[in-house]
Amino acid sequence: MHIDSFSLPLSRPLETAAGRIEMRRGFRVRVEINGTVGVGEATPLPGWTESLADCERALGAVDDPASALDGGRLADVPAARHGVSLAVLDARSRAAGRPLYRYLGRDERVESVAVNATIGDGSATATADAAVDAVDERFPAIKVKVGARGPAADLARLEAVRARCPDVEIRVDANGAWDESTAEEVLPALAALDVAVVEQPLAADRLDAHARLRDRGVEIALDESLVECGVGAVVDAAAADLLVCKPMALGGVDVARSLIDTAREFGIDGLVTTTIDGSIARAAAVHLAASVPKMRPCGLATGELLAGDLTDAVESAADGWIAVPQGKGNIPPR
Ligand SMILES: [Mg+2]
Repeated sequence: MHIDSFSLPLSRPLETAAGRIEMRRGFRVRVEINGTVGVGEATPLPGWTESLADCERALGAVDDPASALDGGRLADVPAARHGVSLAVLDARSRAAGRPLYRYLGRDERVESVAVNATIGDGSATATADAAVDAVDERFPAIKVKVGARGPAADLARLEAVRARCPDVEIRVDANGAWDESTAEEVLPALAALDVAVVEQPLAADRLDAHARLRDRGVEIALDESLVECGVGAVVDAAAADLLVCKPMALGGVDVARSLIDTAREFGIDGLVTTTIDGSIARAAAVHLAASVPKMRPCGLATGELLAGDLTDAVESAADGWIAVPQGKGNIPPR
């Protein structure tokens, strides 16, 4: 197994709960299995995954990539596991002569997957302007970040969006910013604005409280909770209607795929998004979304957040859709 490091600058710095991000650093992972090369990507994001140093250490300790995936050996280093598992899946699907999404189980050709636009914090006018742009670009759904200002200000932003975009699916993502009483107060207003989904309204470990927020006219989606608590705990607590699956934070597209399958058995839907990954991981996330029938619009239009990239193998969103690579494996090896 061969690894080499990369740094990808962001188009503009991103403020997150875990701090300011200006650069995405990670590792390209290259394996050879029975003579077939496979390439993966490990791009850790502390707060969601292990650190860069821990990722590098874990990758450096792998001697046999396929057996390294067995028995949860890389379970505490999800980005490293993502890189190794993707390289192995890439090699195997390439050897099988199939695009990754077909290898993951989809039995029909899928040309493209629907994606949502993401709108960060801003004034009511700026938020509504960004929403209008997204609708003009024909995104079928928009996700608005909330929680950086008080609930009244956020509701004013969403009222401005709905007034100018009467038909678009609106989701909001609070990244755990609210307490239960704030969420209880806000939910009826969100329902009145026909907001479809509220993502991670409460802190990640508050599964029972999330369960109490369901069935109020707005679906409850969990993101941070899924990474922190796991799908078993989320299902046991009946804490969500929808899971937001970040393959890099969950340990790989194989893990994310089986998690979506498990959740669906319990009536919980799943969708796919990224942690602002390079194009090797983004392509894999597109394949993952394409591998699942009836997938909702996913958070995969994140390539524009990077000022540089690993390959040009993933196209930008066009009319709210991203094309699914149709060659063998994930993307052509380089
Ligand atoms: Mg989220």
